[in-house]
Amino acid sequence: MNLTYQPYQLELKYPFSISKFTRSATPLVLLQLHHEGFTGYGEASMVPYLGENLETATSFLQKVDLKRFQYPFNMEEIMNYLDDLAPGNTNIKAAVDIAFHDLTGKIEQKPCYQLFGSDPHKMPVTSFTLGLDPPEMMIRKAQEAADFKVIKIKLGKDNDEEIIRAIRSVSNVPLYVDANQGWTDRQQSLDKIFWLQEQGVELIEQPMDKNDVEGNAWLTENSPVTIVGDEAVQRFADVKRAQGVYHGINVKLMKSAGMYEGHRMILKAKELGLKVLIGCMSETSCATLAAAALAPLCDWADLDGPFLTKNNPYQNPDFADGKYVLKEAFGLGLKSVGGSLL
Ligand code: MG
Repeated sequence: MNLTYQPYQLELKYPFSISKFTRSATPLVLLQLHHEGFTGYGEASMVPYLGENLETATSFLQKVDLKRFQYPFNMEEIMNYLDDLAPGNTNIKAAVDIAFHDLTGKIEQKPCYQLFGSDPHKMPVTSFTLGLDPPEMMIRKAQEAADFKVIKIKLGKDNDEEIIRAIRSVSNVPLYVDANQGWTDRQQSLDKIFWLQEQGVELIEQPMDKNDVEGNAWLTENSPVTIVGDEAVQRFADVKRAQGVYHGINVKLMKSAGMYEGHRMILKAKELGLKVLIGCMSETSCATLAAAALAPLCDWADLDGPFLTKNNPYQNPDFADGKYVLKEAFGLGLKSVGGSLL
């Protein structure tokens, strides 16, 4: 077992704004596990709010000794080992986890979705996210998103209604809204939610601060639209805490430290009666194909990462009718820009 990795700066097609900041590129680590002639691919996407960067990722990897693990790989044992090395670092742990799953699929000659009993025919449509922009720009982006069956918009500044009206002037697809913790007043938020419902909004992510448990729970109890916890729900232990606070959770592999724990979170959420949205960060085809392998087990998908970037180092995932198309290829089914299977 041999591990290699390279830093990679993933550039966005458009600078991306949410309620708290703007960015135009995201630092990644592209990671490979080499084992008996097979290569498993993984990826860490270091979005600022999870607190990781190239230095923390590199210093974590320097502590990792994977030679202790033999095939067949025991993912529970591997993830416990990584968590014992450091409690955080979920992005780089996700890279290792994804690479192990890709490797396992290749060795066992199975697509990753089969490793989780996930049925490609149950793939939900993926939403396409528009960052916060002046209304004219949002109109242009909404027009460019014509291949997608759902548009997700980031709200949280003071011109929410203007933005929705601008999008509705060019598109009538269902909308998801992500407030990214930007709303502060409960009653105003609820009034806004009733208005958003009339505009065809079907789901709202993280309306209020993740630490405002009571505020989010009150909104969920009174909201006619599904409320999903994102920033508040990162790892497995957070799923139970979401019960009674949100209608559903947003699972992202960069928060959950990868597919093994992401899958456990999905199962736990279902057991607790919570719905599941599977999402992504600014990611290449690698990490989003890993999420897509689990997406058929979820209620909604928000896996637009590769489509928002301008230098995806891999071929964009197969996509039709607003959905990822999972093929028979072993592992993740990741392809080079030239189209050959990796
Ligand atoms: Mg979100």
